[in-house]
Amino acid sequence: MADLSNFKTLCAILERNGFNLKKSLGQNFLIDPTVCPQMADEACADADAIIEIGPGAGVLTVELAKRAKKVVSIEIDEKLRPVLKETLAEYDNVEVVFGDVMKIDLNKLIDDKLQGMKIAVCANLPYYITSPIIMMLLESNLAIESITVMVQKEAADRLCAEMGTRECGAVTAAVRFYCTPSLLFNVPRDSFMPPPKVDSAVIKLDISGKEKEYDVDAVSFFKVIKAAFSMRRKTLVNCLSNGLKMDKQAIYDILDSCEIDRNARGEQLSMEQFTAIANTVKKDVK
Ligand code: SAM
Repeated sequence: MADLSNFKTLCAILERNGFNLKKSLGQNFLIDPTVCPQMADEACADADAIIEIGPGAGVLTVELAKRAKKVVSIEIDEKLRPVLKETLAEYDNVEVVFGDVMKIDLNKLIDDKLQGMKIAVCANLPYYITSPIIMMLLESNLAIESITVMVQKEAADRLCAEMGTRECGAVTAAVRFYCTPSLLFNVPRDSFMPPPKVDSAVIKLDISGKEKEYDVDAVSFFKVIKAAFSMRRKTLVNCLSNGLKMDKQAIYDILDSCEIDRNARGEQLSMEQFTAIANTVKKDVK
């Protein structure tokens, strides 16, 4: 079995199959032998089936296939077909679906291919589309237990930030609405071929049992957090007044009724405080 995390072996396989890496598709392939086994252990800890996004040459896919009953890998680049045919030849529990993960109906894919199984998502995500993929996975209401993904370190810090800290943004609150995030480990840039300009980190988003934690209308909640973080360094009153198209006095009244400091900034609020604002403005939000 070829060692896909070995630089020379990987280059030889890609060359043999006439494959050239595409920067536009975020094709930075992992060449650190320690990373994929750890990611696969995490993803398979609470699932027996895995949806992988972007198998590339298959380095993570192989580790997932060794641990899971079934792996469905979604790859946008058809040119990787001969590469994956070679590298995954000995794994009959892997199915590669060629297409754009943002356009595939994942609920249907689960019904068709993974019904009745405990499912997790695992991926070394293409950096150009990290947040849209994560939000799509969370918003699609998929029957999955967890999402274990490699993202840029800066994105990992924001996605896993504690509420009420300087690092948090709209995506922090959005993620916490759906799941419990944790940062697992950092991965330096020279773990990839070619090396990207920044370091990375592996995060895990635990989804199981989270959906009923916040008693709030989701539409109002997302409008409020989008508005609250729309202008960095401005006060919450200015952001909400601007983003929700309500006059400042109305926002002061809402903050007072929720017992939130009139001078607060969005990054200082807890999930419970955002929920309270969303429940109060529910009728007025346009
Ligand atoms: N898993 C491999 C590894 O760790 O070496 C490759 C990871 S590479 C960072 C990202 C992979 O995602 C590439 O294979 C790329 O072609 C694929 N990809 C990019 N955009 C995609 C999309 N919208 N849908 C599915 N796959 C995509």
